[in-house]
Amino acid sequence: MINIVLFGAPGAGKGTQAARLSQKYNINHISTGEVIRDEIRRKTPLGLQVQDYISRGELAPDALVIGMIAEYVKSHRDAAGNIFDGFPRTTPQAEAFEQILEQNGLKVDTMLELSVPEEELVRRILLRGKESGRADDASEDVIRNRIAVYNAQTAVVADFYQARDKYAAVNGVGTEEEVFDRLCAEIDRLL
Ligand code: ADP
Repeated sequence: MINIVLFGAPGAGKGTQAARLSQKYNINHISTGEVIRDEIRRKTPLGLQVQDYISRGELAPDALVIGMIAEYVKSHRDAAGNIFDGFPRTTPQAEAFEQILEQNGLKVDTMLELSVPEEELVRRILLRGKESGRADDASEDVIRNRIAVYNAQTAVVADFYQARDKYAAVNGVGTEEEVFDRLCAEIDRLL
């Protein structure tokens, strides 16, 4: 089993690349953002609890997201591998994740970060908002807030994996194909 944390700011291309990687390596792709949006669409208790955070561009509470991932890991113990897209996003999430994986006899193999300059992030998300209809992609204020939250709370999670020698940065600017090849090169080194 290979467990990859795909990391990067909103708009860095995690979702797009995770979908391709999951196909190529025949491993699962879990996006906490997607799971949360689905809960909101279905108006589940969890969805109702988090929708205000998401619409402001803030993070969902750690306990909720950690619970979601714990469920997911428990029910996917026999997978060939997993790509975690959008998790962990805070240091407490990273610490809880270590424990959850360990309880299931698993570990993170690597964090791969997609590096993209901020103005390019905003440009991409505004473009995506026009097509996806995602409410949190439509307003430049909300987008800037998500990037600010990323810089304040999420960026440090890279240090957590760097300290454990499980980190590589990949240039996230270029064609989809070019970025994909860079990620594959990192993964192939682990296989
Ligand atoms: P993006 O990376 O473009 O912000 P995502 O689909 O990954 O998009 O996430 C959308 C929103 O879902 C985030 O802005 C955040 O509010 C919430 N979210 C997703 N993952 C997490 C997480 N691990 N912890 C807290 N909130 C999360």
